Amino acid sequence: MTIINVLLPLAIADAYSYELPEHLHVNIGDFVEVPLGSRKMIGVVWPSKPNQKIVSKTKLKLVISAVEMQPLSMQLIKFINWVCDYYISPKGMGLRLVLNVPEAIGQVQNIAAVCLGSGQLERSTKAREQVLNAIQKGEIYKKSELAKRAGVGTGVVDGLLKMGVLSHSQMPKFAKFEAPKTNHNLAELAQDQQIAAKSICNAIDANKFETFLLDGVTGSGKTEVYFAALAATIKQGKQAVVLLPEIALTVDFLQRFENRFGVKPAPWHSGLSKGARERVWRAIASGEAKIVIGARSALFLPFVNLGLIVVDEEHDGAYKQDSGVLYHARDMAVVRANIGKFPLVLASATPSLETYLNATSGKYTHLVLEKRHGGAKMPHVKAIDLRANAPQNENGNQRFLSEPLITAMRAKLAKNEQSLLFLNRRGYAPLTLCRACGHRIACPQCDAWLVEHRHNGRLMCHHCGISTKKPTACPECEVEDKLVACGPGVERIFEEAQELFPEARIELLSSDMHMSVDELQRRLAIITNGECDIIIGTQMIAKGHHFPHLTLVGVVDADLGLENGDPRAAERTYQLLNQVAGRAGREQKQGNVLLQTYTPDSPVMRAMIAQDREAFYKAEAYGRELAALPPFGRLASIVVSSKEQKKAFEFARAMIDQSPKVTGMVILGPAPAPMGFVRGRHRVRVLARAPKGFKMQDWLKSGMLSLKPKGDLKVQTDTDPYSFF
Ligand code: ADP
Ligand code: ZN
Repeated sequence: MTIINVLLPLAIADAYSYELPEHLHVNIGDFVEVPLGSRKMIGVVWPSKPNQKIVSKTKLKLVISAVEMQPLSMQLIKFINWVCDYYISPKGMGLRLVLNVPEAIGQVQNIAAVCLGSGQLERSTKAREQVLNAIQKGEIYKKSELAKRAGVGTGVVDGLLKMGVLSHSQMPKFAKFEAPKTNHNLAELAQDQQIAAKSICNAIDANKFETFLLDGVTGSGKTEVYFAALAATIKQGKQAVVLLPEIALTVDFLQRFENRFGVKPAPWHSGLSKGARERVWRAIASGEAKIVIGARSALFLPFVNLGLIVVDEEHDGAYKQDSGVLYHARDMAVVRANIGKFPLVLASATPSLETYLNATSGKYTHLVLEKRHGGAKMPHVKAIDLRANAPQNENGNQRFLSEPLITAMRAKLAKNEQSLLFLNRRGYAPLTLCRACGHRIACPQCDAWLVEHRHNGRLMCHHCGISTKKPTACPECEVEDKLVACGPGVERIFEEAQELFPEARIELLSSDMHMSVDELQRRLAIITNGECDIIIGTQMIAKGHHFPHLTLVGVVDADLGLENGDPRAAERTYQLLNQVAGRAGREQKQGNVLLQTYTPDSPVMRAMIAQDREAFYKAEAYGRELAALPPFGRLASIVVSSKEQKKAFEFARAMIDQSPKVTGMVILGPAPAPMGFVRGRHRVRVLARAPKGFKMQDWLKSGMLSLKPKGDLKVQTDTDPYSFF
């Protein structure tokens, strides 16, 4: 009797054992259909654990059938096991990250089509002639497609099929991905680019695991460098994946790839249709698609011979998955490259402190591009101290733009140059206050104020998404017309700019405006063509874009994000400000950046003004080392939630009582999480801090997590947390 392990893509900790019928033969990685309760499910034959003894107390169920398709590679299986062990997640959830396109499991079926037949045309009509003109011998079309080409209804095609003039045929369901042309449109690399590209290509040729930090200011030509590395990987016959934060995955970027390589890459992001996902998944599994450009989940695609991973904007917080398996795609990219023995490129103008220290200590190979390509200069950065330059309120209206910023914008307008106002806050105002009773309108099910969105007249919770129509009377004291908006969101800045510069052409871009891709493209084109004077936007405008006419960036609230109790708050603020600043003066004209701040002397603002990155990293590293925070120590966050706060607290305390005492381990909490109430559930947090190198996972599993939550209690464990809400 042969017993095999089969992992199913469900929230189950490990693979289940099944008996393999005599007539079936399978290997590790093969897809099989098995019974599960009264259902049937497709899973993957999984390796047994090192000391696994298969003892079957009851009779094992039989595998139903083997599914005909390319098996999962051993490399991917090892990777899934590694990721799930690290993040203490059920293996089945790891497999689900791979098998998230159910349509792609099994052989792809051809679809019905038509071609020319051998029958005679009995009676010619204009419509029939049109069809026959639209199809040549040897060509195959879907019926509807042929009718469309000919400009007739499908009935005409049916008629010709009946006569035998056309006959039934079959065609592949999906168009093929063409191989990228490595020499299609070569950029001549500058010397520093050449040195960097050569270093990466050497590792590619040597099939060697090596992590590179490609570290260069915005506009220094990092993309061109890793394009050269992609070309080298393709020449080797291997596949490569470029990861980008979802928000930077613009049509622009895909177009740039196409310009360089003559063909479209395989895209992977949340906006793909079902059909497009199936096409990409299958093309990767078969090895047909060579280059994938995708969001973090592209790391779990079933490549057959992956030879390079590029993580662009490696410092971006969007690489951390926030539900299910809480993986960090940049960290796990290092793991996948290590398992597969191939190189990895992390690119950024403002690397994460973790990556920066790994590069300066020699663990990663540090490749530096110091200057902007083509001689564009770095922008001049200045702070506007809001304590001395408070914006002047007008007719009782709160104002947010200070005089120096307004003056600078006016000067740009006069010179026909563009300005950008950046505020990382969606909506009109973050708080609505009643002037009669002082009541602040909060979300009924979260610890958060409701944010006013004026374009649709609603108050919205940015945590759970609920929204209500903005009332005219205070919900507390019922007095009419006393509600006032407090603080700015981008919509309000847009309103202020319109009043200040009535003659200017202004574009507002915010991620909550739910623009179609076409609409977004149209607006970006307006900006690129210089048909706009002032751009106002949230984070979505900070990344990746190249606006040739933009020479002034004004940051409305540079302090935003600094005071939120997150150990990486300063680092993140610095990265974001740098990225926004990098939009200014990307061509010949000098760019200027003005930061409105109440803390011009904080390390972040000082580093921005002096453009002294190294000083910032030094100070930041020193502070984190003193506090034993990552990367000098390790953190795990355990959030217990329940509808009753008392229950959550009791359980969290019981968990702590269970955990073995270890010297050097500090347990903080339980305490209400910074967002202590979300979607109607109370959240209580425990933070565990351990010395670097400590096996946090084993400690958690043998202690806190050995206590199983009951009833409505839920426990979420995050090893290496990035979100501290
Ligand atoms: P980064 O990725 O570092 O921000 P990019 O690769 O986007 O920089 O380069 C910035 C600009 O310079 C782009 O418009 C790019 O096309 C151009 N560029 C970079 N390197 C070269 C090169 N070797 N030859 C021609 N143009 C280049
Ligand atoms: Zn809410």
